[in-house]
Amino acid sequence: MNELEERLLEQGASLIGFADLAAVPEPLRRGFPRAVSFGLAIAPDVIAGIKQGPTAEYLAVYNAFNARLATMGLETAAWLQARGWRAEARPGSGDIDWKSLQAPFSHKMAATLAGLGWIGKCDLLVTPEFGSALRFATVLTDAPLDCGTPITESRCGTCTVCVDICPGHACSGRSWRQGMAREEFWDPLACMTGMKAINAKRGTNFAICGLCIAACPVTQAYLAAPRD
Ligand code: SF4
Ligand code: SF4
Repeated sequence: MNELEERLLEQGASLIGFADLAAVPEPLRRGFPRAVSFGLAIAPDVIAGIKQGPTAEYLAVYNAFNARLATMGLETAAWLQARGWRAEARPGSGDIDWKSLQAPFSHKMAATLAGLGWIGKCDLLVTPEFGSALRFATVLTDAPLDCGTPITESRCGTCTVCVDICPGHACSGRSWRQGMAREEFWDPLACMTGMKAINAKRGTNFAICGLCIAACPVTQAYLAAPRD
């Protein structure tokens, strides 16, 4: 484990990986050859609470984790810069553009390139350790990191749990592979419709859903894992 990993673990990171960005188009990688990808896992009881729909507790954790990841990103970039490397924290996925429904940078893409997970049929990052129960951040850098082996295609197999549960019918059922546009397998506008529908049903008004996170069998395995 290197010093950077140790530092991120001390700050509470649950998963850390390093990505080679050679496959990423230049406007997105901003002249940087590599990236640090790291995530914070959401506690099992919080995820278990959203099986029927979003909760205030989940929304609070979602927002707090986005803020914490932004701070960790800035601190990681400063730490790399202090050692003579170029580094830039990318904005958190909480900074979504509500017109395009697109985040300024795909932290999920960086995580797949770092070998931390794959993109599920509902456009979530799915990790073997935590399923989709994480929030992620990315720091671009030219530091000489030992990059992971990219995951370039879905490991969802024949599972259709998120496809079947989605109230907006946002998932086509097609499996992701590297380079696919998300619209080829998942419809962000339909997700918005589903999110509004589940909130209306529950009498809430959160800009969040999460049904597919909680239902995913890989997330469920995380929830069921024995703890100390
Ligand atoms: S967040 Fe909700 S509406 Fe969006 S894809 Fe997942 S289950 Fe469907
Ligand atoms: S619910 Fe199934 S299809 Fe959807 S992301 Fe999880 S493993 Fe993939």
